[in-house]
Amino acid sequence: MSEQVRIPYVAREKELKDLYLPMVAPEDRPQTALELLGEMLKYKRSLKLYLDVCTHCGACAEQCHSYLGTKDPYNMPVARVDLVRRVYKQVFASGPSFLRTWDGAKAIDQETIDLWYKYFHQCNQCRRCAIFCPKGIDTAEVTIAMRELLAHLGMPSRFHAGIAKNMAKTGNNMGNPLPAVLDGIEFLEEELKEETGLDIPIPVDKEGAEVLFNPSSSDLYVNTDGFMAVAKIFYKAGVSWTLSSKITETANFGLFFHEPSMREHSRLLVQAGKELGVKRLVAGECGHGWRTWRMFTETINGPLPFPVVHLFEEVLGYLRDGRIKFDKSMNPEVVTYHDPCNYARAGDLINQPRELLSACVQNFVEMTPTKELSFCCGGGSGILMDEAMKIREALAQPKAECVRSTGAEILCAPCAICKAQLPDVLEHHKVDVTVKGLSDLMGRALIL
Ligand code: SF4
Ligand code: SF4
Repeated sequence: MSEQVRIPYVAREKELKDLYLPMVAPEDRPQTALELLGEMLKYKRSLKLYLDVCTHCGACAEQCHSYLGTKDPYNMPVARVDLVRRVYKQVFASGPSFLRTWDGAKAIDQETIDLWYKYFHQCNQCRRCAIFCPKGIDTAEVTIAMRELLAHLGMPSRFHAGIAKNMAKTGNNMGNPLPAVLDGIEFLEEELKEETGLDIPIPVDKEGAEVLFNPSSSDLYVNTDGFMAVAKIFYKAGVSWTLSSKITETANFGLFFHEPSMREHSRLLVQAGKELGVKRLVAGECGHGWRTWRMFTETINGPLPFPVVHLFEEVLGYLRDGRIKFDKSMNPEVVTYHDPCNYARAGDLINQPRELLSACVQNFVEMTPTKELSFCCGGGSGILMDEAMKIREALAQPKAECVRSTGAEILCAPCAICKAQLPDVLEHHKVDVTVKGLSDLMGRALIL
């Protein structure tokens, strides 16, 4: 398969150089891949366990939206991991070779690597299959490992590599330089004045502030109503807060394919908080970004001198203390809630957003399935590439049917990736609904 026809597109030499990743000639890839897999098996014990313990019971197959949406057998979680397992059995497992062959062992070749690339970019790392697997196999972890291996084989996706490069150079995924960031913030302050008649500040680099708020850059530059809502909430609650000019990004794409990028992003965030002397870091709306904060920040950059909390936990505190109030009548539409995978299955954020929703909207309806069992939007793990739109539409099909069956007018999807994925794919599936973040809905209902 040529480099060009791989969907999503493979990174080019310049993107590899930016991330200090090697170019590997196609004919050298099978051997290099074996060496990388061998190294990985030494330090990723969970990967070895997942490759060893699968009984091929099939309980995961019908639980994966990727398989349900594409009907491609390789998108069954078990079959996806078998693409690695067969090489593992051939080279790294013990026992007589005829038994291993009978058990599916197969030598690695260039086609195997193409299959890895294709199918580990059709897994949204949503973790739904892990809930149903009696052995606890988390295919998302295998996908993360295999994308890491592909990156070190010179084959990250162009999209992911470009975002990681933007983040390293500018502190945000969009690659906006600091003067543009500051201009944008000034513009939003003017918008807030026009909308409310109040001087609602958006502080930057305010030393000694109580809160360092880290939004996703898409909320800062695209879904600006949600970002301005957060500024209004901090203002009304009387909280001293600030942004950091060094990092205006909570979406950490390194988690999806390149651990060094993930670690560096996390380090930047912690350093910004320390330099400003804040009391806590507050994460904006981003599912996997929150997963990174919650699960890895303390481990890789701790001990931390402050807690990391999610915006919803923070705002819920204000609501319970009576520091802010909502007028539900400002959100009279029927609203349903999409659980971002990394909130519900990796971030302990299930009831908090529901408590906020029930306080700020009049007509809330639950979706089925919901909470830990909710389906992914199909954009998880950064599958947001334009060239992958057909795949994205297929991956979104189960979610689209869930949303349709609620009859809701508004779909609350409080994650930067879900908000980027859902409007287009729901339109494709002819589901007539408006997608909004929870911040947007809180902003509409906030009594200033
Ligand atoms: S449910 Fe678990 S054990 Fe069963 S086939 Fe799927 S991954 Fe293997
Ligand atoms: S993590 Fe999600 S997308 Fe990936 S195999 Fe499991 S259910 Fe499917």
